[in-house]
Amino acid sequence: GLKMSHVSHLFGENRVLRDISFDVAPGELVCLLGPSGCGKTTALRLAAGLEKLQVGAISVDDQIVAQPGGYVEPEKRGVGMVFQDYALFPHLNVAKNIGFGLRHFSETDRMNAIKAALEQVGMSDYLNAYPHELSGGQQQRIALARALAPKPRIMLLDEPFSGLDVARRADLRDTTLHVLKDAGIATVMVTHDPQEAMYMADRIIIMNEGQIMQDGSPETLYFRPENRFVASFFGEVN
Ligand code: ATP
Repeated sequence: GLKMSHVSHLFGENRVLRDISFDVAPGELVCLLGPSGCGKTTALRLAAGLEKLQVGAISVDDQIVAQPGGYVEPEKRGVGMVFQDYALFPHLNVAKNIGFGLRHFSETDRMNAIKAALEQVGMSDYLNAYPHELSGGQQQRIALARALAPKPRIMLLDEPFSGLDVARRADLRDTTLHVLKDAGIATVMVTHDPQEAMYMADRIIIMNEGQIMQDGSPETLYFRPENRFVASFFGEVN
């Protein structure tokens, strides 16, 4: 699982995260939910190793992967990610897109991993397709397959269904849940959509201005909000 302990982060004078701590167990899906600018993406980028940790510690399966002055590279963290700004390479076909993160595999192992990941997301027929030949939803499935192929223990998803219509969104949401649960991966998903979080999450962490306002099951947050902020957030659901 993933553990963030007392993580704080500054961009210049801007305190973007203030003493954030949370755990995600294997097979658990936790949603980070909160208004724009509250620090959700920064928390994910720190977990991924895309941003240098300033204060606190991050561990994966009880091994510290980031602390001030100590750092494990993103590829060596056992962390998969689907981020909006990590789109597919347009000039590479699906197999090569997925294979890119498997450069250290033997050729046979690489092809097996690519095929297994495509099967997981229901895209086995698209091995040789190019990104521009795929719909938005199909491209997002390939991005998920690419993240799954190296068999990560942690998955980080940043608004993975943005830009999809309602039907495709529901479809991909179910595939994503199913695949991650099946593989027992600890998942953190950033969203600003309370309904999506209610539907998908085992636990929801509500953030505001860099702080955790409440961390609990969807039912707990909905029926027993600890503060006005959380209550008003879920007031928007109905
Ligand atoms: P959104 O839902 O809009 O993506 P968010 O909750 O994910 O928002 P972050 O992207 O983590 O929020 O940003 C938190 C704050 O940090 C914002 O005020 C943002 O402007 C600032 N910020 C993010 N990245 C940087 C950066 N590289 N340099 C300076 N400031 C940054």
